[in-house]
Parts: sequence; structure tokens; C-alpha cells
Amino acid sequence: MLLWEDVVYYIDGRAWAIIVTAKANSSIPTRNKEVYKRLSEALGRRLKKEVALAPYTSFGIGGKADLFFRATNPEELAFAIRTAQELQLRFFVLGGGSNVLISDSGLRGLVIRNECGKVLISRNRVTCQSGAALSEVIKLACQRSLSGLEFAAGIPGTVGGAVRGNAGAFGESVGEVLTSAVILAEKAEAKEVNNGFFGFGYRESRLKRTGDVLLSVTFELKKQSKEEIEERIKTNLEKREENLPWQEKSAGCFFKNIINGDKKISAGFLLDRAGAKGMRQGGAQVSTKHANILINSGNAKAEDVKRLARKLKMKVKQKFDIDLQEEVVYINSGFSRI
Ligand SMILES: Cc1cc2nc3c(=O)[nH]c(=O)nc-3n(C[C@H](O)[C@H](O)[C@H](O)COP(=O)(O)OP(=O)(O)OC[C@H]3O[C@@H](n4cnc5c(N)ncnc54)[C@H](O)[C@@H]3O)c2cc1C
Repeated sequence: MLLWEDVVYYIDGRAWAIIVTAKANSSIPTRNKEVYKRLSEALGRRLKKEVALAPYTSFGIGGKADLFFRATNPEELAFAIRTAQELQLRFFVLGGGSNVLISDSGLRGLVIRNECGKVLISRNRVTCQSGAALSEVIKLACQRSLSGLEFAAGIPGTVGGAVRGNAGAFGESVGEVLTSAVILAEKAEAKEVNNGFFGFGYRESRLKRTGDVLLSVTFELKKQSKEEIEERIKTNLEKREENLPWQEKSAGCFFKNIINGDKKISAGFLLDRAGAKGMRQGGAQVSTKHANILINSGNAKAEDVKRLARKLKMKVKQKFDIDLQEEVVYINSGFSRI
């Protein structure tokens, strides 16, 4: 049984989070009854078997998780991870599922859906648990007249997913307003880290390389008039509405833009010039509105999307001699890296 004292970490005198090693090696088959028995003893009746993951993703694609658990507070999240590690069971932390393409054969091991969503605001600091919806954080910040996250209005998903991928729009990104965070790193120690730890770059953070799990984040925002903040949010949402295929099932921009020093070449521009719009593979299609958005136009399989992505990369390579890189994360059955 996990004790609160084992895992609580304090920020500004408030209880928050925890640390456990985030990498998992597995030699024990998930379906092993003994593992399931021990895991369900630890996690209780909320541990589910054979859960379809497609409904938990914005693409609406993916097979079943062998085991599935919704963590609603940081202790549960850490406990689930720690237990999986003890059982040498693979695990994967799923946020809003808006940047992943999950394998058709599903995921072996334990999928932990991060539903830790508390947000605390103190003066100009917004501290949120990593499963908080980014949209909710932006809304609460706006209510308190705090500016700095308006660029992210309309980006789906959780704070954890956003920080891992340094989500951004209109030339700004979450890494610019993050001051500190609590991560789950190795050896089950609580670790508070500052902005420098993450080594933020364009859609990059250290979490992508280490697989550490983020538990909470503090953003430092600026006081500004609520009306101005609301206006910026509205403008940004309108721009998105105009340029993105909102109604479609997608994971947002599929490929990263090309960044070379100060210069940026939009992947959407390259794909458009290469004739990508409307291209199809099975149930997957390139949006006719935005060439860098791949959509699930029916019953697309992950394999359809991957094949289409490979064709698109080839087209851009042939026409421009540029190698596109996926922004969307492929999660395969072994989830070797988070
Ligand atoms: C319509 C649409 C528009 C979008 N627009 C943008 C945009 O403008 N800019 C942009 O940057 N992105 C955009 N995206 C992509 C996506 O919304 C972001 O990347 C988002 O931040 C992903 O968060 P998530 O919680 O959904 O992550 P998920 O998809 O659940 O997970 C993504 C990765 O992050 C990892 N992860 C999740 N939580 C944690 C955690 N607590 N600790 C460590 N790792 C974690 C997962 O394991 C996985 O590897 C868009 C997507 C859609 C569907």
C-alpha cells in the first residue's frame, strides 16, 4: 500500500507530486495471470482488461490496451508506475491522446490514462497537475487576468503532453512560460526541476529522450486586462478555425516544420507543393484544407496512416530533397519509448 508520505512532494507548501522510474523493461508477458492478479490487488477494481484505445485518441485509431488504469491524482499515477515497474511490466502514460498514433495491434502492458487535473493559481503563478487539460488552464488563467498562454488556445490535450512536445503555435511555445516542474525520474525520488532541465527546442524537450513522466508544472504568467486576453484567445481560435480541418479526426500537424537557424519552412507548404492534399491510403487521407494534416476519414488503420505518411515523405524528398520528420508519436505494441 502506498502511503501519502512516501510520495508527496511539496511546492510552495502544497502537497503535489512524486517520482518513480519511468522506464520499464519487460520480460513478463502481460497476459500472465499472476501479474494481473498482483496488479489488480494493488490498483483495485479500476484496473481494466482489454480496453479499446481508439476512443481515447483524437485520431480515433488504435487497438486495445492489455491493461488500462485511469489515474486521477498524482499518488495514483506514481503508484501505478511504481507497481508496473515492480512487476517488470511495460507501461505507457496517455494524456489527451491528441498527438499519438496507436498501433492497430494495441499495446501490451499497462496504459495509464493521466486524469490528474488540479490547477492552483497563486498570484501570477499557475501550478497544474500534468493531466489538466491545457484548454482549462488557459480558461482559468484568463479568468484571473493572467496572460502568456493565449497562443495555445485550441491546442487539445493535457499539460503533460504539451510540455513533453513543447507544444506551440503562432511562434510561441509552452516552454517559454514554464518556470518549474515536478517529474518522475529514476530511483523513485521526487524531483523538482527548472526550465533549463527540459532543454526545450522546437517541439522538443528532454522528456522525449528520457521517458521521464511529468507530474506537475508551474507557469509564470503576466497580469493583463482580461478583455485583452479574451480578445487574443478569440483571434487565435478564429485563425485555427479558418486554417485547420476542425471537424475531422486527426492528430494536428503530422510532420514538424523545418527549422534552420532563424529560418522556418512550413511542412504544410512543402507538402502542398508536392501535391499531397487529398491523397489517400485506405481510410487515411491528407486533408484538402491543410496538407500537413492527415485525417481518419472512415475506418482508418494505423497502418494506413503510416503508409500514407511514408508516401508523403518520399514525395517531399523527391521534390525538395528534404527529409520530413513526424511530429505525431507512433506508439507501437511494445512502447519501447514513451
Ligand atoms: C486538432 C488538433 C490541433 C493541434 N494543434 C496543435 C498546435 O497548434 N500545436 C502543437 O504543438 N500541437 C498541436 N496538436 C497536437 C497535440 O494537441 C499536442 O501535441 C498536445 O500537447 C498533446 O498532448 P496530449 O495530452 O494529447 O498528449 P498525448 O497524445 O496523450 O501523448 C503524447 C506523448 O506525450 C506523452 N505524455 C503525455 N503525458 C505525459 C506526461 N505527464 N509525462 C510525460 N509524457 C507524457 C505520451 O506518453 C506520448 O508519448 C494538435 C492536435 C490536434 C488534434
